[in-house]
Amino acid sequence: MATVIEGETGDWELVVGLEVHAQVISNAKLFSGAATDFGAEANTQVSLVDAAMPGMLPVINDYCVEQAVRTGLGLKAEINKVSVFDRKNYFYADLPQGYQISQYKQPIVGHGEIILDLPDGHSRTVGITRLHLEQDAGKSLHDQHPSQTYVDLNRSGVALMEIVSEPDMRGSDDAAAYLRKLRSILRYLGTCDGNMEEGSMRCDVNVSVRRVGDNAFGTRTETKNVNSIRAAQQAIEYEARRQIEVLEAGGTIDQETRLWDPGKGVTRSMRSKEEAHDYRYFPDPDLLPLELSDDFIARIRDSLPELPDDKKARFMDQYGLSAYDAGVLVADRAPADFYEEAASGRDPKLTANWVITELFGALNRMDRGIEDTPVTAAQLGGLVDLIADNTISGRIAKDVFADMLETGKDAAAIVDEKGLKQVTDTGAITAAIDAVLSREAEKVAEYKAGKEKLFGFFVGQVMKATQGKANPAMVNQVLKEKLAG
Ligand code: ADP
Ligand code: MG
Repeated sequence: MATVIEGETGDWELVVGLEVHAQVISNAKLFSGAATDFGAEANTQVSLVDAAMPGMLPVINDYCVEQAVRTGLGLKAEINKVSVFDRKNYFYADLPQGYQISQYKQPIVGHGEIILDLPDGHSRTVGITRLHLEQDAGKSLHDQHPSQTYVDLNRSGVALMEIVSEPDMRGSDDAAAYLRKLRSILRYLGTCDGNMEEGSMRCDVNVSVRRVGDNAFGTRTETKNVNSIRAAQQAIEYEARRQIEVLEAGGTIDQETRLWDPGKGVTRSMRSKEEAHDYRYFPDPDLLPLELSDDFIARIRDSLPELPDDKKARFMDQYGLSAYDAGVLVADRAPADFYEEAASGRDPKLTANWVITELFGALNRMDRGIEDTPVTAAQLGGLVDLIADNTISGRIAKDVFADMLETGKDAAAIVDEKGLKQVTDTGAITAAIDAVLSREAEKVAEYKAGKEKLFGFFVGQVMKATQGKANPAMVNQVLKEKLAG
Protein backbone atom coordinates (compact mmCIF):
# COMPACT_ATOMS: atom_id res chain seq x y z
CA MET A 1 0.00 0.00 0.00
CA ALA A 2 1.44 3.35 -0.92
CA THR A 3 1.22 5.56 2.12
CA VAL A 4 0.60 9.20 1.26
CA ILE A 5 1.59 11.76 3.86
CA GLU A 6 -0.01 15.16 3.73
CA GLY A 7 2.53 17.94 4.22
CA GLU A 8 2.08 21.70 4.55
CA THR A 9 2.80 22.19 0.85
CA GLY A 10 1.40 19.02 -0.72
CA ASP A 11 1.38 15.23 -0.64
CA TRP A 12 4.45 13.09 -0.16
CA GLU A 13 5.24 9.46 -0.81
CA LEU A 14 7.65 7.21 1.11
CA VAL A 15 10.34 5.03 -0.42
CA VAL A 16 11.77 2.28 1.76
CA GLY A 17 14.53 -0.30 1.30
CA LEU A 18 15.59 -2.72 4.04
CA GLU A 19 18.89 -4.36 4.90
CA VAL A 20 18.38 -7.39 7.13
CA HIS A 21 21.14 -9.21 8.99
CA ALA A 22 20.01 -12.77 9.58
CA GLN A 23 22.10 -15.02 11.82
CA VAL A 24 22.66 -18.38 10.14
CA ILE A 25 21.45 -21.42 12.07
CA SER A 26 24.66 -23.42 12.42
CA ASN A 27 26.42 -25.12 15.31
CA ALA A 28 29.73 -23.53 14.36
CA LYS A 29 30.88 -20.11 13.20
CA LEU A 30 31.55 -19.01 9.61
CA PHE A 31 35.33 -19.54 9.71
CA SER A 32 35.92 -21.46 12.96
CA GLY A 33 34.57 -24.43 14.89
CA ALA A 34 33.49 -22.42 17.97
CA ALA A 35 29.90 -22.82 19.20
CA THR A 36 27.17 -20.26 18.57
CA ASP A 37 24.60 -20.81 21.38
CA PHE A 38 22.67 -17.73 22.43
CA GLY A 39 23.04 -16.61 26.04
CA ALA A 40 26.28 -18.49 26.83
CA GLU A 41 28.61 -17.00 29.44
CA ALA A 42 30.79 -14.21 27.97
CA ASN A 43 33.90 -15.31 26.07
CA THR A 44 33.23 -19.06 26.43
CA GLN A 45 32.62 -19.60 22.70
CA VAL A 46 35.74 -18.07 21.23
CA SER A 47 38.33 -19.92 19.18
CA LEU A 48 41.81 -18.58 18.43
CA VAL A 49 40.48 -17.57 14.99
CA ASP A 50 37.62 -15.55 16.50
CA ALA A 51 40.06 -13.82 18.85
CA ALA A 52 42.31 -13.07 15.85
CA MET A 53 45.44 -14.57 17.34
CA PRO A 54 48.45 -14.06 15.05
CA GLY A 55 48.87 -16.75 12.42
CA MET A 56 45.35 -18.15 12.69
CA LEU A 57 43.67 -18.87 9.38
CA PRO A 58 39.95 -18.88 8.55
CA VAL A 59 38.45 -22.10 7.19
CA ILE A 60 35.07 -21.78 5.50
CA ASN A 61 32.21 -23.67 7.14
CA ASP A 62 30.46 -25.54 4.31
CA TYR A 63 27.23 -25.78 6.24
CA CYS A 64 26.92 -21.97 6.43
CA VAL A 65 27.47 -21.81 2.67
CA GLU A 66 24.73 -24.40 2.22
CA GLN A 67 22.38 -22.33 4.42
CA ALA A 68 23.05 -19.19 2.35
CA VAL A 69 22.35 -21.07 -0.88
CA ARG A 70 19.19 -22.57 0.64
CA THR A 71 18.03 -19.07 1.60
CA GLY A 72 18.84 -17.74 -1.87
CA LEU A 73 16.78 -20.50 -3.48
CA GLY A 74 13.92 -19.78 -1.05
CA LEU A 75 14.02 -16.15 -2.21
CA LYS A 76 13.86 -17.34 -5.84
CA ALA A 77 17.24 -15.73 -6.36
CA GLU A 78 20.19 -16.29 -8.68
CA ILE A 79 22.91 -18.33 -7.03
CA ASN A 80 26.37 -17.13 -8.05
CA LYS A 81 28.61 -20.11 -8.68
CA VAL A 82 31.67 -17.97 -7.94
CA SER A 83 31.72 -15.47 -5.09
CA VAL A 84 34.50 -13.70 -3.23
CA PHE A 85 35.18 -12.90 0.42
CA ASP A 86 36.55 -9.41 1.04
CA ARG A 87 38.03 -7.68 4.03
CA LYS A 88 36.05 -4.68 5.22
CA ASN A 89 38.61 -2.74 7.23
CA TYR A 90 37.75 -0.70 10.31
CA PHE A 91 38.93 -0.44 13.88
CA TYR A 92 36.75 -1.20 16.85
CA ALA A 93 37.39 -2.85 20.22
CA ASP A 94 34.93 -5.65 19.54
CA LEU A 95 36.55 -6.46 16.15
CA PRO A 96 39.91 -8.02 17.06
CA GLN A 97 40.92 -8.75 13.45
CA GLY A 98 40.69 -5.07 12.50
CA TYR A 99 38.51 -6.10 9.58
CA GLN A 100 35.29 -7.97 8.99
CA ILE A 101 35.27 -10.73 6.40
CA SER A 102 32.31 -9.98 4.16
CA GLN A 103 31.36 -10.15 0.49
CA TYR A 104 31.28 -6.98 -1.55
CA LYS A 105 31.36 -6.98 -5.33
CA GLN A 106 30.67 -10.68 -5.82
CA PRO A 107 28.08 -11.93 -3.32
CA ILE A 108 26.97 -15.57 -3.13
CA VAL A 109 23.35 -14.71 -4.04
CA GLY A 110 22.07 -12.16 -6.57
CA HIS A 111 18.61 -10.90 -7.57
CA GLY A 112 15.55 -12.48 -6.00
CA GLU A 113 12.10 -11.52 -4.80
CA ILE A 114 9.63 -11.64 -1.93
CA ILE A 115 5.86 -11.48 -2.32
CA LEU A 116 4.20 -9.38 0.40
CA ASP A 117 0.71 -10.24 1.65
CA LEU A 118 -0.77 -6.88 2.61
CA PRO A 119 -3.48 -6.38 5.26
CA ASP A 120 -5.99 -5.29 2.57
CA GLY A 121 -5.60 -8.68 0.82
CA HIS A 122 -3.44 -7.34 -2.03
CA SER A 123 0.07 -8.49 -2.70
CA ARG A 124 3.16 -6.66 -3.84
CA THR A 125 6.48 -8.03 -5.07
CA VAL A 126 9.64 -6.58 -3.55
CA GLY A 127 12.95 -7.19 -5.28
CA ILE A 128 15.92 -8.64 -3.41
CA THR A 129 19.13 -6.98 -4.57
CA ARG A 130 21.55 -9.51 -3.09
CA LEU A 131 22.38 -11.77 -0.18
CA HIS A 132 25.93 -12.08 1.05
CA LEU A 133 27.70 -13.95 3.82
CA GLU A 134 29.74 -12.14 6.47
CA GLN A 135 31.04 -12.50 10.01
CA ASP A 136 29.42 -10.84 12.99
CA ALA A 137 31.53 -8.69 15.33
CA GLY A 138 31.85 -9.15 19.09
CA LYS A 139 29.82 -7.15 21.56
CA SER A 140 30.94 -4.20 23.69
CA LEU A 141 29.41 -4.26 27.16
CA HIS A 142 29.12 -0.73 28.55
CA ASP A 143 27.02 -1.55 31.59
CA GLN A 144 29.24 -3.99 33.52
CA HIS A 145 31.67 -1.50 35.09
CA PRO A 146 31.33 2.22 35.91
CA SER A 147 34.41 3.35 33.99
CA GLN A 148 35.34 0.47 31.72
CA THR A 149 33.90 -1.24 28.65
CA TYR A 150 34.11 -5.00 28.49
CA VAL A 151 34.18 -7.04 25.31
CA ASP A 152 32.38 -10.35 24.74
CA LEU A 153 33.68 -12.20 21.70
CA ASN A 154 31.08 -14.99 21.68
CA ARG A 155 29.41 -13.42 18.67
CA SER A 156 32.69 -12.68 16.92
CA GLY A 157 32.80 -14.74 13.73
CA VAL A 158 29.20 -15.95 13.83
CA ALA A 159 27.80 -16.31 10.28
CA LEU A 160 25.36 -13.66 9.10
CA MET A 161 23.45 -13.35 5.87
CA GLU A 162 22.94 -9.74 4.86
CA ILE A 163 19.80 -9.57 2.74
CA VAL A 164 19.37 -6.27 0.88
CA SER A 165 16.05 -5.28 -0.66
CA GLU A 166 15.41 -2.97 -3.60
CA PRO A 167 13.80 0.38 -2.67
CA ASP A 168 10.43 -1.13 -3.61
CA MET A 169 8.42 -0.51 -0.45
CA ARG A 170 6.13 2.51 -0.15
CA GLY A 171 5.22 2.65 3.51
CA SER A 172 5.65 1.16 6.98
CA ASP A 173 2.96 -1.48 6.31
CA ASP A 174 4.96 -2.74 3.35
CA ALA A 175 8.06 -2.92 5.54
CA ALA A 176 6.21 -4.86 8.25
CA ALA A 177 4.80 -7.27 5.67
CA TYR A 178 8.29 -7.69 4.18
CA LEU A 179 9.88 -8.49 7.53
CA ARG A 180 7.09 -10.93 8.44
CA LYS A 181 7.35 -12.72 5.11
CA LEU A 182 11.14 -12.84 5.14
CA ARG A 183 11.10 -14.21 8.70
CA SER A 184 8.51 -16.79 7.72
CA ILE A 185 10.60 -17.97 4.75
CA LEU A 186 13.79 -18.15 6.84
CA ARG A 187 11.99 -20.22 9.48
CA TYR A 188 10.48 -22.58 6.93
CA LEU A 189 13.93 -23.07 5.45
CA GLY A 190 15.53 -23.52 8.88
CA THR A 191 18.30 -21.07 7.98
CA CYS A 192 17.62 -18.39 10.64
CA ASP A 193 15.35 -18.46 13.68
CA GLY A 194 14.14 -14.93 12.92
CA ASN A 195 14.18 -13.96 16.58
CA MET A 196 14.48 -10.17 16.59
CA GLU A 197 14.45 -9.85 20.39
CA GLU A 198 17.55 -12.03 20.67
CA GLY A 199 19.16 -10.13 17.80
CA SER A 200 19.32 -13.09 15.43
CA MET A 201 17.45 -10.96 12.88
CA ARG A 202 18.37 -7.26 12.76
CA CYS A 203 17.25 -4.61 10.38
CA ASP A 204 18.48 -1.27 8.99
CA VAL A 205 15.78 0.89 7.44
CA ASN A 206 16.53 3.16 4.48
CA VAL A 207 13.94 5.87 3.98
CA SER A 208 13.47 8.73 1.56
CA VAL A 209 10.48 10.85 0.57
CA ARG A 210 9.37 12.43 -2.70
CA ARG A 211 6.40 14.49 -3.81
CA VAL A 212 3.54 12.40 -5.17
CA GLY A 213 3.99 12.33 -8.94
CA ASP A 214 7.79 12.67 -8.88
CA ASN A 215 9.71 9.82 -10.45
CA ALA A 216 13.18 10.45 -9.05
CA PHE A 217 13.99 9.16 -5.57
CA GLY A 218 14.89 11.60 -2.83
CA THR A 219 18.05 11.36 -0.72
CA ARG A 220 17.78 8.54 1.81
CA THR A 221 18.86 8.10 5.38
CA GLU A 222 19.74 4.74 6.92
CA THR A 223 18.51 4.04 10.45
CA LYS A 224 20.14 1.37 12.59
CA ASN A 225 19.30 -0.27 15.92
CA VAL A 226 15.84 -1.37 14.86
CA ASN A 227 15.03 -4.47 16.91
CA SER A 228 11.43 -5.35 16.16
CA ILE A 229 8.91 -5.07 13.36
CA ARG A 230 7.03 -2.47 15.37
CA ALA A 231 10.23 -0.43 15.80
CA ALA A 232 10.87 -0.61 12.04
CA GLN A 233 7.41 0.80 11.37
CA GLN A 234 7.84 3.57 13.94
CA ALA A 235 11.30 4.49 12.69
CA ILE A 236 10.05 4.69 9.08
CA GLU A 237 7.09 6.87 10.02
CA TYR A 238 9.19 9.14 12.21
CA GLU A 239 11.91 9.49 9.60
CA ALA A 240 9.45 10.25 6.79
CA ARG A 241 7.80 13.04 8.77
CA ARG A 242 11.14 14.47 9.82
CA GLN A 243 12.39 14.54 6.23
CA ILE A 244 9.17 16.14 4.97
CA GLU A 245 9.48 18.88 7.59
CA VAL A 246 13.09 19.59 6.62
CA LEU A 247 12.27 19.70 2.90
CA GLU A 248 9.19 21.85 3.33
CA ALA A 249 11.21 24.33 5.39
CA GLY A 250 13.53 24.65 2.38
CA GLY A 251 16.27 22.40 3.76
CA THR A 252 17.98 19.35 2.25
CA ILE A 253 18.38 15.79 3.51
CA ASP A 254 21.90 14.59 4.27
CA GLN A 255 22.62 11.05 3.27
CA GLU A 256 23.49 9.94 6.77
CA THR A 257 23.35 7.04 9.17
CA ARG A 258 20.91 7.51 12.03
CA LEU A 259 20.06 5.57 15.18
CA TRP A 260 16.59 4.60 16.36
CA ASP A 261 15.98 5.49 20.01
CA PRO A 262 13.18 3.15 21.10
CA GLY A 263 12.68 4.93 24.43
CA LYS A 264 12.11 8.37 22.92
CA GLY A 265 10.61 7.13 19.65
CA VAL A 266 12.96 9.28 17.55
CA THR A 267 15.91 8.83 15.18
CA ARG A 268 19.20 10.61 15.89
CA SER A 269 22.11 11.38 13.59
CA MET A 270 25.01 8.94 14.07
CA ARG A 271 27.35 9.86 11.23
CA SER A 272 27.08 11.82 8.01
CA LYS A 273 28.22 10.67 4.60
CA GLU A 274 31.33 12.89 4.81
CA GLU A 275 32.35 10.98 7.91
CA ALA A 276 31.44 7.70 6.23
CA HIS A 277 34.09 5.04 6.46
CA ASP A 278 36.33 4.17 3.63
CA TYR A 279 36.47 0.46 4.33
CA ARG A 280 39.26 -0.22 1.83
CA TYR A 281 37.61 -3.45 0.69
CA PHE A 282 39.92 -6.00 -0.90
CA PRO A 283 39.71 -9.77 -1.44
CA ASP A 284 40.82 -11.68 1.66
CA PRO A 285 44.14 -13.30 0.72
CA ASP A 286 43.52 -16.08 3.28
CA LEU A 287 40.46 -17.35 1.42
CA LEU A 288 40.03 -18.70 -2.10
CA PRO A 289 37.06 -17.57 -4.19
CA LEU A 290 34.05 -19.65 -3.22
CA GLU A 291 33.08 -21.99 -6.06
CA LEU A 292 29.82 -23.95 -6.04
CA SER A 293 29.12 -26.97 -8.20
CA ASP A 294 25.85 -27.52 -10.05
CA ASP A 295 25.40 -30.74 -8.05
CA PHE A 296 25.73 -28.93 -4.73
CA ILE A 297 23.09 -26.37 -5.74
CA ALA A 298 20.78 -29.03 -7.22
CA ARG A 299 20.98 -31.15 -4.07
CA ILE A 300 19.92 -28.17 -1.93
CA ARG A 301 17.15 -27.25 -4.37
CA ASP A 302 15.77 -30.79 -4.15
CA SER A 303 15.69 -30.64 -0.36
CA LEU A 304 13.70 -27.39 -0.09
CA PRO A 305 10.43 -27.65 1.87
CA GLU A 306 7.13 -26.36 0.53
CA LEU A 307 7.40 -22.61 1.18
CA PRO A 308 4.67 -20.27 2.51
CA ASP A 309 3.50 -18.91 -0.88
CA ASP A 310 3.13 -22.39 -2.36
CA LYS A 311 1.48 -23.72 0.77
CA LYS A 312 -0.96 -20.82 0.79
CA ALA A 313 -1.90 -21.42 -2.85
CA ARG A 314 -2.37 -25.12 -2.11
CA PHE A 315 -4.54 -24.44 0.97
CA MET A 316 -6.79 -22.17 -1.12
CA ASP A 317 -7.00 -24.71 -3.91
CA GLN A 318 -7.21 -27.97 -1.97
CA TYR A 319 -9.30 -26.79 1.01
CA GLY A 320 -11.22 -23.89 -0.55
CA LEU A 321 -9.92 -21.46 2.08
CA SER A 322 -9.93 -17.68 1.65
CA ALA A 323 -6.61 -15.94 0.98
CA TYR A 324 -6.80 -14.45 4.45
CA ASP A 325 -7.41 -17.74 6.29
CA ALA A 326 -4.79 -19.57 4.23
CA GLY A 327 -2.30 -16.75 4.92
CA VAL A 328 -2.88 -16.96 8.67
CA LEU A 329 -2.44 -20.75 8.70
CA VAL A 330 0.76 -20.86 6.64
CA ALA A 331 2.64 -18.00 8.36
CA ASP A 332 4.45 -20.66 10.39
CA ARG A 333 4.98 -24.29 9.66
CA ALA A 334 3.65 -25.72 12.94
CA PRO A 335 0.12 -24.23 12.74
CA ALA A 336 -0.08 -25.21 9.06
CA ASP A 337 0.78 -28.82 9.96
CA PHE A 338 -1.66 -28.73 12.87
CA TYR A 339 -4.43 -27.56 10.56
CA GLU A 340 -3.75 -30.22 7.95
CA GLU A 341 -3.82 -32.94 10.57
CA ALA A 342 -7.07 -31.63 12.07
CA ALA A 343 -8.74 -31.13 8.67
CA SER A 344 -7.82 -34.54 7.30
CA GLY A 345 -11.05 -36.24 6.22
CA ARG A 346 -13.22 -33.38 7.55
CA ASP A 347 -14.94 -30.20 6.40
CA PRO A 348 -11.88 -28.00 5.71
CA LYS A 349 -13.60 -24.65 6.17
CA LEU A 350 -15.32 -25.60 9.41
CA THR A 351 -12.00 -26.94 10.71
CA ALA A 352 -10.18 -23.77 9.62
CA ASN A 353 -12.69 -21.68 11.59
CA TRP A 354 -12.12 -23.72 14.70
CA VAL A 355 -8.34 -23.61 14.36
CA ILE A 356 -8.12 -19.88 13.57
CA THR A 357 -10.90 -18.32 15.62
CA GLU A 358 -11.23 -20.63 18.60
CA LEU A 359 -7.87 -22.35 19.05
CA PHE A 360 -5.56 -19.48 18.00
CA GLY A 361 -7.77 -17.08 19.99
CA ALA A 362 -7.45 -19.25 23.10
CA LEU A 363 -3.69 -19.76 22.65
CA ASN A 364 -3.29 -15.98 22.33
CA ARG A 365 -5.18 -15.39 25.54
CA MET A 366 -3.07 -18.04 27.29
CA ASP A 367 0.09 -16.58 25.75
CA ARG A 368 1.08 -20.00 24.43
CA GLY A 369 2.39 -21.23 21.09
CA ILE A 370 0.91 -24.08 19.07
CA GLU A 371 3.72 -26.33 20.44
CA ASP A 372 2.08 -26.07 23.89
CA THR A 373 -1.51 -26.46 22.81
CA PRO A 374 -3.63 -28.30 25.40
CA VAL A 375 -5.91 -29.54 22.58
CA THR A 376 -4.23 -31.77 19.98
CA ALA A 377 -5.08 -31.73 16.28
CA ALA A 378 -6.81 -35.11 16.64
CA GLN A 379 -8.87 -33.80 19.55
CA LEU A 380 -9.93 -30.66 17.68
CA GLY A 381 -10.83 -32.88 14.74
CA GLY A 382 -12.96 -34.99 17.12
CA LEU A 383 -14.87 -31.88 18.15
CA VAL A 384 -15.44 -30.90 14.53
CA ASP A 385 -16.79 -34.42 13.89
CA LEU A 386 -19.40 -33.98 16.63
CA ILE A 387 -20.56 -30.71 15.05
CA ALA A 388 -20.57 -32.17 11.54
CA ASP A 389 -22.73 -35.20 12.49
CA ASN A 390 -25.12 -33.01 14.53
CA THR A 391 -24.24 -34.58 17.86
CA ILE A 392 -23.77 -31.05 19.24
CA SER A 393 -24.56 -27.58 17.93
CA GLY A 394 -21.88 -24.98 17.23
CA ARG A 395 -23.06 -23.14 20.32
CA ILE A 396 -22.60 -26.11 22.67
CA ALA A 397 -19.31 -26.90 20.92
CA LYS A 398 -17.86 -23.67 22.29
CA ASP A 399 -18.58 -24.80 25.85
CA VAL A 400 -17.15 -28.23 25.12
CA PHE A 401 -14.03 -26.59 23.66
CA ALA A 402 -13.56 -24.44 26.77
CA ASP A 403 -13.75 -27.64 28.80
CA MET A 404 -11.23 -29.37 26.52
CA LEU A 405 -8.77 -26.50 26.98
CA GLU A 406 -9.03 -26.83 30.72
CA THR A 407 -9.08 -30.60 31.15
CA GLY A 408 -7.36 -31.92 28.02
CA LYS A 409 -10.20 -34.44 27.65
CA ASP A 410 -11.68 -35.56 24.33
CA ALA A 411 -14.82 -33.79 23.10
CA ALA A 412 -16.87 -37.01 22.99
CA ALA A 413 -16.06 -37.81 26.63
CA ILE A 414 -17.14 -34.32 27.75
CA VAL A 415 -20.39 -34.52 25.74
CA ASP A 416 -21.17 -37.92 27.32
CA GLU A 417 -20.30 -36.93 30.86
CA LYS A 418 -22.30 -33.73 30.76
CA GLY A 419 -25.19 -35.06 28.70
CA LEU A 420 -24.73 -32.41 26.04
CA LYS A 421 -25.87 -34.50 23.12
CA GLN A 422 -28.03 -32.44 20.83
CA VAL A 423 -31.76 -33.18 20.67
CA THR A 424 -32.55 -34.07 17.06
CA ASP A 425 -35.66 -36.03 17.87
CA THR A 426 -38.51 -34.16 16.10
CA GLY A 427 -41.01 -35.37 18.69
CA ALA A 428 -39.06 -33.91 21.62
CA ILE A 429 -38.45 -30.63 19.77
CA THR A 430 -42.09 -30.31 18.76
CA ALA A 431 -43.16 -30.92 22.36
CA ALA A 432 -40.84 -28.19 23.61
CA ILE A 433 -42.13 -25.79 20.97
CA ASP A 434 -45.75 -26.54 21.79
CA ALA A 435 -45.08 -25.84 25.45
CA VAL A 436 -43.46 -22.48 24.67
CA LEU A 437 -46.18 -21.42 22.21
CA SER A 438 -49.03 -22.22 24.57
CA ARG A 439 -47.28 -20.39 27.42
CA GLU A 440 -46.62 -17.34 25.22
CA ALA A 441 -50.03 -17.15 23.57
CA GLU A 442 -50.06 -13.34 23.69
CA LYS A 443 -46.75 -13.05 21.87
CA VAL A 444 -47.94 -15.60 19.33
CA ALA A 445 -50.89 -13.34 18.57
CA GLU A 446 -48.57 -10.33 18.22
CA TYR A 447 -46.38 -12.33 15.88
CA LYS A 448 -49.30 -13.33 13.73
CA ALA A 449 -50.39 -9.69 13.66
CA GLY A 450 -47.09 -8.86 11.96
CA LYS A 451 -44.45 -8.48 14.71
CA GLU A 452 -42.12 -10.91 12.94
CA LYS A 453 -39.03 -10.13 14.92
CA LEU A 454 -40.57 -12.13 17.79
CA PHE A 455 -39.41 -15.24 15.92
CA GLY A 456 -36.00 -14.93 17.52
CA PHE A 457 -37.64 -14.72 20.95
CA PHE A 458 -39.45 -18.04 20.38
CA VAL A 459 -36.23 -19.71 19.22
CA GLY A 460 -34.49 -18.42 22.35
CA GLN A 461 -37.25 -19.76 24.62
CA VAL A 462 -37.13 -23.21 22.99
CA MET A 463 -33.33 -23.33 23.27
CA LYS A 464 -33.60 -22.33 26.91
CA ALA A 465 -36.20 -25.01 27.57
CA THR A 466 -33.86 -27.62 26.07
CA GLN A 467 -30.70 -26.30 27.80
CA GLY A 468 -29.34 -25.29 24.41
CA LYS A 469 -29.37 -28.85 23.20
CA ALA A 470 -32.08 -28.64 20.55
CA ASN A 471 -30.78 -28.71 16.99
CA PRO A 472 -31.17 -25.03 15.94
CA ALA A 473 -32.00 -25.79 12.31
CA MET A 474 -34.78 -28.15 13.36
CA VAL A 475 -36.14 -25.67 15.89
CA ASN A 476 -36.29 -23.03 13.17
CA GLN A 477 -38.04 -25.32 10.76
CA VAL A 478 -40.67 -26.70 13.15
CA LEU A 479 -41.32 -23.24 14.64
CA LYS A 480 -41.92 -21.77 11.20
CA GLU A 481 -44.40 -24.53 10.40
CA LYS A 482 -46.24 -24.11 13.73
CA LEU A 483 -46.44 -20.32 13.50
CA ALA A 484 -47.59 -20.43 9.89
CA GLY A 485 -50.50 -22.70 10.87
P1 ADP B 1 24.87 1.08 1.33
O1 ADP B 1 25.98 0.16 0.98
O2 ADP B 1 25.25 2.49 1.51
O3 ADP B 1 24.09 0.57 2.50
P2 ADP B 1 23.15 -0.01 -0.71
O4 ADP B 1 23.26 0.23 -2.18
O5 ADP B 1 23.54 -1.34 -0.18
O6 ADP B 1 23.91 1.13 0.04
O7 ADP B 1 21.62 0.29 -0.36
C1 ADP B 1 21.13 0.16 0.89
C2 ADP B 1 19.61 0.14 0.90
O8 ADP B 1 19.09 1.43 0.59
C3 ADP B 1 18.93 -0.82 -0.05
O9 ADP B 1 18.02 -1.59 0.70
C4 ADP B 1 18.18 0.08 -1.02
O10 ADP B 1 16.94 -0.50 -1.40
C5 ADP B 1 17.93 1.31 -0.20
N1 ADP B 1 17.79 2.54 -0.97
C6 ADP B 1 18.59 2.98 -1.96
N2 ADP B 1 18.16 4.17 -2.41
C7 ADP B 1 17.09 4.53 -1.66
C8 ADP B 1 16.21 5.66 -1.63
N3 ADP B 1 16.38 6.70 -2.43
N4 ADP B 1 15.21 5.66 -0.72
C9 ADP B 1 15.04 4.63 0.11
N5 ADP B 1 15.82 3.54 0.13
C10 ADP B 1 16.83 3.49 -0.75
MG1 MG C 1 24.28 -0.93 3.73
